[in-house]
Amino acid sequence: MASDKKLIIANWKMNLDMHEASLYLHKLSKMVKVHRDTEVVLAPTSLTLQSLSLQVNLKQFKLAAQNFYWRDSGTYTGEISATQLRGVVQYALVGHSERRHIFNESDKDVRNKVAAAIRNNIRPVLCIGETAWEHANNETKDVIHDQLAGGLANITGEELEKVVIAYEPVWAISAGLGSTPVSVSLDDVKLAFNAVRNQIKHLYGQKASESIQVLYGGSVTGDSVADYLSLPGVNGLLVGWASLNANTFNEILEKAHKSALADKKE
Ligand code: PEP
Repeated sequence: MASDKKLIIANWKMNLDMHEASLYLHKLSKMVKVHRDTEVVLAPTSLTLQSLSLQVNLKQFKLAAQNFYWRDSGTYTGEISATQLRGVVQYALVGHSERRHIFNESDKDVRNKVAAAIRNNIRPVLCIGETAWEHANNETKDVIHDQLAGGLANITGEELEKVVIAYEPVWAISAGLGSTPVSVSLDDVKLAFNAVRNQIKHLYGQKASESIQVLYGGSVTGDSVADYLSLPGVNGLLVGWASLNANTFNEILEKAHKSALADKKE
């Protein structure tokens, strides 16, 4: 079974240099309270991963790669493999919409990366979600169906236990860059989460569909944390720009902890 923990992942994208990343980690580790009901993961750039892995207290935070290549080694200039990331990170984002849409990653690339992460003992966070056009044309369910079927092809039920899914509507990612964040309606999120769990049920059965961890991402701010986490089946959040400031991110973590406490009381 997936744990009841809220999983909160900070995706720093191509922001924060080595010095800034180290200062951020120092600052956040001083103020963060470790709660057993919340798992916190930081996804810095590849350049800073190794030094942060030496600095991080794994009881406070886990680390994630934002990307990697699926072969374990070889003549792939400029790439980093999951084998090389083994021991440095505990998680890795796979198929983030910026990788799919800016760098043309296909479902085949995504599926190879999911498998590579698993064989290297790294939990893949499989990112899926529809574009604005697909949303406007009521294609959300189809996109979720295709991206899950494509990304999870050849993954066994046992391997699926290591996989986290992040549903992120592409039209809501970094929309407004902090000034006017897009808020996705809770009904839209519910519909998408139902589609995700139905597809997992279809592929792997009822038990797997209930236990897989599914996160929401897309312009999450401190103000929207409680709303998204209060939805049934939303097990955590993937946070981009709002995670770039340690104070703001810490507020998000505290709100996630409060949501986890509220879940327990129900
Ligand atoms: C993301 O990068 O996955 C993300 C959700 O970004 P933002 O919070 O900026 O929309």
